[in-house]
Amino acid sequence: MSNLNVRFIDLAAQYSRIEDSVRARISGVLEHGNFILGPEVVEFESALGHFLGVRNVIGVANGTDALLLALMAGGVQAGDSVITTAFSFFATSEVISLIGAKPEFVDVEEGSFNICPAEVEEKIVALRKNGRGRVAAIIAVDLFGRPADYEALEKIAEKYDVLLVEDAAQSMGGSIGRRKCGNFGQIAGTSFFPAKPLGCYGDGGAVMTNDDALAEIVRSLRVHGKGSDKYDNVRIGLNSRLDTIQAAILLEKLEILGEELTARRSLAEFYSENLRESFFVPEMPPNYSSAWAQYTVRAREGTREEYLRRMQAENCPTAIYYGKPLHLQSAYSELGYQTGDFPVSESLAKTVFSIPMHPYLQRKDAETIVRILNAK
Ligand SMILES: *Cc1c(COP(=O)(O)O)cnc(C)c1O
Repeated sequence: MSNLNVRFIDLAAQYSRIEDSVRARISGVLEHGNFILGPEVVEFESALGHFLGVRNVIGVANGTDALLLALMAGGVQAGDSVITTAFSFFATSEVISLIGAKPEFVDVEEGSFNICPAEVEEKIVALRKNGRGRVAAIIAVDLFGRPADYEALEKIAEKYDVLLVEDAAQSMGGSIGRRKCGNFGQIAGTSFFPAKPLGCYGDGGAVMTNDDALAEIVRSLRVHGKGSDKYDNVRIGLNSRLDTIQAAILLEKLEILGEELTARRSLAEFYSENLRESFFVPEMPPNYSSAWAQYTVRAREGTREEYLRRMQAENCPTAIYYGKPLHLQSAYSELGYQTGDFPVSESLAKTVFSIPMHPYLQRKDAETIVRILNAK
């Protein structure tokens, strides 16, 4: 046994660092009592906008709602088709179905785990030829924190006049060149679920856009489609606001996000240098920067269970994101997809696993993890 005592994501270590300032922030909210869309929400929206370089940040109740609101504001309607990746968390496609639109899955690229732009374009062309409803939008996911290929995706979205939505739930802090995740496509959604790179202490999310008209619609939609006030209703919306207390917590978390990212990046580099011989590790073009929500490797087919067993025996947590691709979820059985439709996603579901990744992981523990995984 290796005496390992690591957590998959260590929120307790983070809390011990920011406890005083978080408690002070929460007390401030308890004192002023403005719990819904209070001043901390406005302050956080502005601070995150500044960090991301985005004109509008709109705090909402969770990441799923953020994506739903992005589609609603972008005019996606029942009967439309929305193209998305087969390899993501269920919420990515769930929001399409909630609107009554149809998810049209495409496969991911082997190297990036992200949606394949060439397949997106083929799908748009094929769907248009069949005349099966309007192709209204593309949702690209920055899986595990790594930005999708927006250089290609933005060109395709423009060429075919389709709304491009960025699912940045896992990528706060990621970037391509100087452009940060949350700032791609026409509109983006993110999540502040506690385990995400920028997390709160409950549910939370945000919509980001540089388009002021779209932002105005999202601000209305999150308060029951309000017009001049919430008793003047100009569209069907929902109740989806970021709590003031969560915004207060996020203000403190945002302060340390930069330093945390540096620590995550350095851990990821250490893992990659030391695991490259044994696994397929995440490699990125030099201008791409991941937020490292997860550090996920790919084992050779048929060997994953042995690695998971070995890690468990050494008391080291692991996780599988994701063991079942979206097109094979039983909720989508009526769409008629079959095993074999998206070979890359299906192969990843059988071979990937994620290992502890957080800014507070000690280097000696990372060395032990690497030693366990590399043992012959
Ligand atoms: C977490 C996540 C969501 C949903 O966010 P919630 O805040 O849990 O609703 C959506 N998409 C992806 C890729 C996610 O990882």
